[in-house]
Amino acid sequence: MDTGLGVASLRQHLAELIDKPLLAIASHIHFDHAGGIHEFEHRAIHELEAQALREGDAHEALCAQPGWVHLDHFEMLPHQGFRVDEYIFNAAEPTQVLQDGDVLDLGDRALEVLHLPGHSAGCIALYDPRSQALFSGDVIYDGELLDELHCSNIPDYIHTY
Ligand SMILES: [Zn+2]
Repeated sequence: MDTGLGVASLRQHLAELIDKPLLAIASHIHFDHAGGIHEFEHRAIHELEAQALREGDAHEALCAQPGWVHLDHFEMLPHQGFRVDEYIFNAAEPTQVLQDGDVLDLGDRALEVLHLPGHSAGCIALYDPRSQALFSGDVIYDGELLDELHCSNIPDYIHTY
């Protein structure tokens, strides 16, 4: 779940660790979550943000210039000559479009898709009822709540909680 900015190859890194089929899931369209999803053969995102991924919509991904990709967010640069003003959010066709209540059966565990809009329209979390683990993306996190982005909806967010 979530692939980071895509400035370094997560897929290549994972290939050294995992020899099973992969499904990359974006918790939502923002660049810091879905920026690397284009690298993966199997990609899933909520239906409300599938078109933005399909189009590589930098505005919806929060990385249209001047965007949220800032040099001071990097502890180290991904490669020599990297420039944040040249960052590109790559378009990718979703191979699976998610809806609330979908179940992703991984064989030894099943994750339920929870549609929890507010931060963005297509925010999801994944819930594992067996372990009671919640993978929350940007629905809930430790830090300042981002609920006033162009894609945010505070009444939806209140309802989500
Ligand atoms: Zn976000």
